[in-house]
Amino acid sequence: MPGREDRVVAPVDARDVEPMVDADIIAELGDRSLPRQSISTHGPRWSRVVLKMSGEALAGEGGQTIHAEVIERIASEIAMARSDLGVELAVMIGGGNIWRGTSPAGRCLDRSTSDTMGMLATVINALALQDAIERHGQPTRVLSAIQMAEVAEPYIRRRAIRHLEKGRVVIFAAGMGNPYFTTDTPAALRAAEIEAEVLLKGTHSGVDGVYSADPKLDPKATRFDEITFMEVVRKSLRVMDLTAITFCRDNALPVLVFDLTRPGNITRALRGEELGTLIK
Ligand code: UDP
Repeated sequence: MPGREDRVVAPVDARDVEPMVDADIIAELGDRSLPRQSISTHGPRWSRVVLKMSGEALAGEGGQTIHAEVIERIASEIAMARSDLGVELAVMIGGGNIWRGTSPAGRCLDRSTSDTMGMLATVINALALQDAIERHGQPTRVLSAIQMAEVAEPYIRRRAIRHLEKGRVVIFAAGMGNPYFTTDTPAALRAAEIEAEVLLKGTHSGVDGVYSADPKLDPKATRFDEITFMEVVRKSLRVMDLTAITFCRDNALPVLVFDLTRPGNITRALRGEELGTLIK
């Protein structure tokens, strides 16, 4: 398994033929410390990423559990990220459009039971996303942290990496398989495990990054282009679960927070265009 800096971005099923971008650019893209402005527009900024997507991002605005047009749009962007940009892409999908362990209805249940229901909800979303992505001709694998051999492969780190190397989009289901978490922390954990260079945190609430205050309540709130993990913690900015933020800080895993609902933003994020907020 090559290190982050050695990895070469390759087109699907053509890893041994020719790299899509030259070696200098690849070396540059692999450097986490690069200022954002120096990113090349010719290829992807990162070669391996984890996209954290909330289940509610699939729901659209009409109150459906999964909105056909919304999932289709996201799936086409994910497929393009793989086929056009050659990025190794894994998705951690949430389940909040179906069930959250701490939802009001869940509070009358045993917490572990309610969280297990939430994890099963993520499996439903993972299967829907798999179906939508594969309709674009992009192979995928769902890897579940809860064993369910009939519907998904078990999560095995080395297998996840192998799928990515083979050009498959990996969809992580069932979070990390343990209650008392949301999918934010497993997204960060899996990103570290598979040596992803960044965690892409797609928002769906209309807020396109990290702000100094809630922009829906405070018109003077400003968006940060970049911010440190320490500042996020110190200012109690609500970006992700605190456990996930501290995990990313401890493991030097940058997080790009961006608006997933705006068409084209996954591609823009992967190309390194200016959008959202980079936490590092
Ligand atoms: N969950 C869990 N352990 C995990 C991941 C998720 O118990 O490792 C449960 C938890 O109840 C959570 C639910 O699954 O509320 C759905 O995940 P999440 O809330 O992250 O979904 P999202 O808000 O991202 O759609």
